[in-house]
Amino acid sequence: MSVEKTFAIIKPDAVESKNAGKILARIEAESFRVVALKRHRISKREAESFYGEHAAKGFFSSLVAYMTSGPVYVAVLERENAVAHWRAVMGATDPAKADAGTIRKEFGRSIERNAAHGSANPADAAREVTFFFSHAELI
Ligand code: ATP
Ligand code: MG
Repeated sequence: MSVEKTFAIIKPDAVESKNAGKILARIEAESFRVVALKRHRISKREAESFYGEHAAKGFFSSLVAYMTSGPVYVAVLERENAVAHWRAVMGATDPAKADAGTIRKEFGRSIERNAAHGSANPADAAREVTFFFSHAELI
C-alpha cells in the first residue's frame, strides 16, 4: 500500500447541524493528513458536473438542490490507502445501512443527506481534487 490522496466533502446537512468539527476530528484521528481544506458554496453548475454520473437518476435534481443548499467543507486527505480507508470510515451510502461507528451512521439523516462524500477510486480522486483545488492550494 502506498500513500495516496482522496477528496472529501463535509456535506450541507453536517455543516448546518454543526457536526463538521467532529468529522474533522475523526479525519485527524484516522491519521489522514489534511492537504487542503476550504469552506465553499457549491454552485448548481458545479453540482451538476460533479455528480454528472448520476444525471439520469430520479434523485439527481434533489441531490443537486441539496448539495447547493448551504456551505460545505471540501478537503483533500492523504494517508496510506486513503480512498478505500475514507470510504470505510464514512460507511454505506444509506445511513440506515451503515455500520456502527461510521460517519454516515453517526451524522447522516437519510440516503440523500448522508453527511459526507468520498471519492470512489484513485482516478476519481485525482479528477475531484482538481475540480475544487488549484495545485498551489495543496500543501
Ligand atoms: P458520494 O459519491 O457522495 O461519496 P456514494 O458514492 O456513497 O456517495 P453514490 O451512489 O455516488 O453514493 O451517490 C451520490 C450521492 O447521491 C449519495 O451520497 C447521496 O447523497 C445521493 N444518493 C444516492 N442514492 C440516492 C437515492 N437512492 N436517493 C436519494 N439520494 C441518493
Ligand atoms: Mg459516489
